[in-house]
Amino acid sequence: MANKILLELVKLPDNNHCADCGAPDPEWASCKLGVFVCLDCSGVHRNIHTIARVKSIRLDNWDDKLVEFMSSNGNAKARAVYEKAVPAFYYRPLQKDCAVLKEQWIKAKYERREFTGQTKYPPLSYTTGFYEGNLWKKGKDKAEFQRRKFVLSEKEFTLSYYNKEDPSKAPKAVISIKTLNVTFQPDRIGHAHGLQISYQEDSHTRNLYVFHESGEEIVIWFNAIRAARFAYLKTAYPTGSDVELIPRITRNYLKEGYMEKTGPMQTEPFKKRWFILDSQDRKLFYFKTQMDPEELGVVFIGTQSNGYSVTECIPKGTRGNRWKCGLMVHTPDRVFVFMCERETEQHEWVEALRQVISKPMQPQDYTTEANIRGRR
Ligand SMILES: [Zn+2]
Repeated sequence: MANKILLELVKLPDNNHCADCGAPDPEWASCKLGVFVCLDCSGVHRNIHTIARVKSIRLDNWDDKLVEFMSSNGNAKARAVYEKAVPAFYYRPLQKDCAVLKEQWIKAKYERREFTGQTKYPPLSYTTGFYEGNLWKKGKDKAEFQRRKFVLSEKEFTLSYYNKEDPSKAPKAVISIKTLNVTFQPDRIGHAHGLQISYQEDSHTRNLYVFHESGEEIVIWFNAIRAARFAYLKTAYPTGSDVELIPRITRNYLKEGYMEKTGPMQTEPFKKRWFILDSQDRKLFYFKTQMDPEELGVVFIGTQSNGYSVTECIPKGTRGNRWKCGLMVHTPDRVFVFMCERETEQHEWVEALRQVISKPMQPQDYTTEANIRGRR
């Protein structure tokens, strides 16, 4: 009987998505907080001792008092309390995001109560416009990670890092945050808290790979960089609304993976390369390996009416390709032939590229296109 009421409650529009990651049809509930959550998020709740009471709405026994508590609370009420003061730039994770982002979001909301608008903490690190600390950074040509001091300055719009921990030495690199992107890459970096920092230098894209042992610390870095990027975007686009600017703070890449690539004549031997499709900048990058600091090349992806298209294909007269599932990207300058290992990847690449091609070009895209085509 009690479960039947819960199953009705969870169908209400306020409750039919996980309170923490937005996954549809949650089957668990926190009877401490009165929220409905998905299986994954319920696991995070269970591990936080101050909020730990979670139950399955289908399988567990509920007494009437607890059901009454759930019905008088629910996701919307909890959101009004625990998400009352989430900064505009703060990243709210989705179901598909990595574990550390979801875990820290749940801890920040309910355990540290960072967004209730009445926090007793001093100004939070990601809101002060300045942040410094040590991160483990992958060496440029080495596989090892080395401890490096990083300094983020919102005032200067820069992220710097130092080769030695001696602060009197000049920074090894001072990176403008104007073109900076940060995205969690736990699988590729081989660490649950692995973060990829990308930026433009001399019109080339460079990557840094970092992590921190503490999940809280790496998510602070992520949101501190987002805060600085948001401040920069507000300066660069003073008339831009939050709705327009927030998606541009940081982004996940639309698709990544290995493909084989041939040269402009399409008779050159195929080489395996790591590709990243950045939908926002309309760029298809390729790297020698998936952990390279610098791109080998980039293909601009325009629209159909500007001469860009993608098709599945089996190219004739090619050699050296071990993989058989091909796709052809037509651009005004040349045709690119890529080979995928499996059909599913071939379909995913074609689908992802079509998604970019079908998106209208913005004024800044024409500048990007001219720059990339000018590089050849
Ligand atoms: Zn969830």
